[in-house]
Amino acid sequence: MNKEYFVDYVKIKVKGGKGGNGCISFRREKYVPKGGPDGGDGGDGGSVILEGDENLMTLLDYKYKRFYKAQDGEHGKGKKMHGKKGEDLILKVPLGTVVIDSKTKEIIGEILSKEQRLCVAKGGKGGRGNVHFVSPTNRAPKICEKGKKGEEKEIILELKLISDVAIVGLPNSGKTTLLNRLTGTSAKTAPYPFTTLTPNIGVQRDSNLRRYTLCDIPGIIEGASKGKGLGLTFLRHIERTKILLILIDGASDSPLKDYEVLIKEIKSYNPSILDKKKILVVNKKDLKEFKNPFKENSIEISALKGIGIQTLKEKIEELLNE
Ligand code: GDP
Ligand code: MG
Repeated sequence: MNKEYFVDYVKIKVKGGKGGNGCISFRREKYVPKGGPDGGDGGDGGSVILEGDENLMTLLDYKYKRFYKAQDGEHGKGKKMHGKKGEDLILKVPLGTVVIDSKTKEIIGEILSKEQRLCVAKGGKGGRGNVHFVSPTNRAPKICEKGKKGEEKEIILELKLISDVAIVGLPNSGKTTLLNRLTGTSAKTAPYPFTTLTPNIGVQRDSNLRRYTLCDIPGIIEGASKGKGLGLTFLRHIERTKILLILIDGASDSPLKDYEVLIKEIKSYNPSILDKKKILVVNKKDLKEFKNPFKENSIEISALKGIGIQTLKEKIEELLNE
């Protein structure tokens, strides 16, 4: 039950609705032999709009249906009646969805917050009816505009790292091992264009079967020591993480010093990251070199052997539910 299929990349086609045609029509009145033009405008086509939904975790919904089209606008009618506007098609996407134009590879935008909207295919404008084309030389114009086609695009949706729990630690502390231990085989590496390092993401369910995501971020320290800057976007994603799981190798020469190095590195990137809820975890309890200078402020585990994992899960859940 705790294994989820994690879909973080889809390609879909989106198309705005066509604008309705303008109308050519003339008043018919008993006592006005040549009634004036009264053809109304066509309604605009609906647009395809993405909207952030905090309850979605994956792009799975878009895996199978590949084409999305908003409603066409209605044609204009006589008596200056405007055609109805086509309805917008709202596509809900998880927070952290980056939208890329499949042809140009340009980033169209990102959905980062709840209910945030992004138009990805604008509906075509409705055509004007013949009421608009009256001129001194043409009092009975038999002219109207056709509705314009809606925008059509192929877009890539890519779910970037926004996870509930971020595992941070020095290289070799056991981040990837822990992530796999916590999420089973759901962990998956996410290619990230802003760094050569690839974070791993996994999905887990809490005891109420609510999903939450975990990631291990190799970038923070490994990148720093190699002189690789993390892109701003990458940091922004880390900033959205609810819980920082600080993983320390209890079998290293000095777990305390490792801790200090880690905290200093994080601080130098962005001190506000440290304001998050934190869980201090000391790993490799199974080894005889294991020591824990943090005592009761920490949770002791062995990611490799599965020791202390249940306690850790409970702690994560407790903080997530706070
Ligand atoms: P990362 O660099 O932080 O992602 O660390 P890894 O998960 O790749 O682990 C680094 C090394 O430590 C690997 O050889 C793991 O098998 C080992 N390791 C991780 N957790 C434990 C543990 O609890 N006990 C022991 N003995 N080894 C571990
Ligand atoms: Mg790793």
